[in-house]
Amino acid sequence: MQQPIYLDYQSTTPVAPSVLEAMLPYFAEQFANPSSSSHQPGTDADTAVKHARETIAAHLGAKPKEIIFTSGATEALNLAIKGVAESSKERGKHLVTVATEHHAVLDTYTFLEANGFETTVLPVGADGLLDVSTLADAIRDDTVLVSVMAANNEIGTIQPIGDVGKLCRERAVYFLTDATQALGKRTLDVNELNIDLLAGSAHKMYGPKGVGILYVRSLSPKVRLAPQLHGGGQERSLRSGTVNVPGVVGAAKALDIALSGAREEQRRLAALRDRLLERLLETVPGISVNGTMESRLPNNLSIRIDQIDAQAVMLSLRNQLAVSSGSACSSAGTTPSHVLTAIGLTERQSHSSLRFGLGRFTTEEEIYTAAKLIAQEVTRALAFTA
Ligand SMILES: *Cc1c(COP(=O)(O)O)cnc(C)c1O
Repeated sequence: MQQPIYLDYQSTTPVAPSVLEAMLPYFAEQFANPSSSSHQPGTDADTAVKHARETIAAHLGAKPKEIIFTSGATEALNLAIKGVAESSKERGKHLVTVATEHHAVLDTYTFLEANGFETTVLPVGADGLLDVSTLADAIRDDTVLVSVMAANNEIGTIQPIGDVGKLCRERAVYFLTDATQALGKRTLDVNELNIDLLAGSAHKMYGPKGVGILYVRSLSPKVRLAPQLHGGGQERSLRSGTVNVPGVVGAAKALDIALSGAREEQRRLAALRDRLLERLLETVPGISVNGTMESRLPNNLSIRIDQIDAQAVMLSLRNQLAVSSGSACSSAGTTPSHVLTAIGLTERQSHSSLRFGLGRFTTEEEIYTAAKLIAQEVTRALAFTA
């Protein structure tokens, strides 16, 4: 049977062939532990990790020692948030974030709230954007951390992180950005943007699953982090555990190739995405876009369709089309997406919503087929309910 058309690149991406090729030697041939400094194979593995760290640091405008490898963005975000909270207790116990963040941020904030910290979760507008003046009002003398994502995984909204960084620097508060959806799509310079901590994940940019990156600023200001995993003292004692050598080699290669043709690829995807929307608007009644089309990832489209149960549409098309209703993490449940709720959608509108994520292997033909399949299915569903 033919594979369904994959339009779910926001939930994960396939490993690029050149990334896989770069990783392969480190599974069975050059398998040594990079911490084994007593022999040559160990030193060679350490060199591979060193190169990966240098590559990633260079793309972010960071120093190699400021890059910490983790098991994913979830772990990187947990380390950043809990690590700052624990080490800054003397200075203050207040942390700020935004309602549309990923659960890896929001649930970590909830955990801290239950453990003696105070948190403020800021609203966004119907466009999905944070108003930086509400952030300015929310920062207090005892605020130690502000977390604002670079781009949203459900509705693709690109937040004004340059303005957020500037404000945080002026107010002497650490700024963490979850850049998981932005990394590899646009250039992110931690100095230009005044970012103190940045989290990313290889599997959202054509690298392997289970590999995360945390950038931690080392100077002016030096970010103090309390480790959340204790053990062998790897990663400057901030993240104990043997480094995933093939994984970090793959992450570096993935970022390299993503950024080498990024501008052209993003333009291609934006054109395809706009064509998809155009075609849907022409052929499907009752369509609205969720969030702004202005400040948005070029490969993301989130729509809702009046009177339609998105879950039922996806189920009917599951062998032909891979899309999602919200984020991959929440699509199994029946609770409406917190992101769609935050931009003011009713529960009903949220359940009528579909997310399309385009990517490197998406073709124009797939876009037309996808639109046709949705149109057919919606027509069928509407005739059924009429
Ligand atoms: C996927 C994703 C995460 C979680 O990343 P993992 O590496 O899967 O833990 C966090 N934030 C955003 C915005 C994401 O898209």
